[in-house]
Amino acid sequence: VKPSPYGEKIYEGKAKILYRTPKGTLVHYFKDSATAFNAEKKQEFSGKGENNVRLSGLLFEYLHSKGIRSHFLKALDERSFESLDLKMLPVEVVVRNILAGSLAKRLKEQEGRVLNPPLCEFYLKSDEKGDPLVSDDILIALYGQSATDLSKLKILALQVNESLKSIFDKAGITLADFKLEFGKTPHGDIVLADEISPDTCRLWDKVTGEKLDKDRFRFDLGDLMTGYREISDRVEKVLRG
Ligand code: ADP
Ligand code: UDP
Repeated sequence: VKPSPYGEKIYEGKAKILYRTPKGTLVHYFKDSATAFNAEKKQEFSGKGENNVRLSGLLFEYLHSKGIRSHFLKALDERSFESLDLKMLPVEVVVRNILAGSLAKRLKEQEGRVLNPPLCEFYLKSDEKGDPLVSDDILIALYGQSATDLSKLKILALQVNESLKSIFDKAGITLADFKLEFGKTPHGDIVLADEISPDTCRLWDKVTGEKLDKDRFRFDLGDLMTGYREISDRVEKVLRG
């Protein structure tokens, strides 16, 4: 095994490998693998890691400029960034502007209806349980979460939504929905973590409606990297001019 230039490997997930550096920060190495349907479908896409780490970094920096704190410290190389090491909350926070995915399926409603106001939902982060939808009460009664933290999560997630919607809109892209993860600092502050990428967002071309995100892989809608590159190139152009 090749020694890591970053530090000790502490975790390998579906999309990233985490290393802990000697100074106590984390390095997130973005893999090229794509998974869907709780990892039942899996494929490698050359260039995906590079694309997603770049877009995530750009978006975290943009959110910082809007006063939204995240774990992102700095880009390290073409496949990785450095972050704060947080105590992660076992919750996937999903924000939805437009009906799609699992909610459209559950309600047996046509995808594409505008959700006004946007929804904020909690899913338990547990691959073993298939990330079930949970209420605030369930997270409090069974999974050790506090009502205060859950209200903070909703406020933060909806703030992130307003900023992301605006930047994607300028890039000619509709942000239909996305998933966020949060963690706590040793001071107890809740901070945005993980990644923001076409793996975790539904992003549609504003004019044609073309799906540019991971639904291309989920439902075989076309070349994955063509959609992913379109998203990051357009966002980079808006942010960097
Ligand atoms: P998964 O674990 O779902 O397969 P990944 O492959 O993306 O997903 O793994 C990244 C892991 O790192 C996730 O478990 C995520 O919760 C965790 N994580 C993200 N940001 C941080 C952070 N700042 N501190 C600690 N853990 C983090
Ligand atoms: N999502 C994610 N990781 C998950 C589940 C969902 O990043 O484990 C994202 C997904 O890409 C979409 C949003 O969260 O942008 C809402 O997903 P949904 O609940 O519709 O589930 P899906 O049908 O995509 O599995």
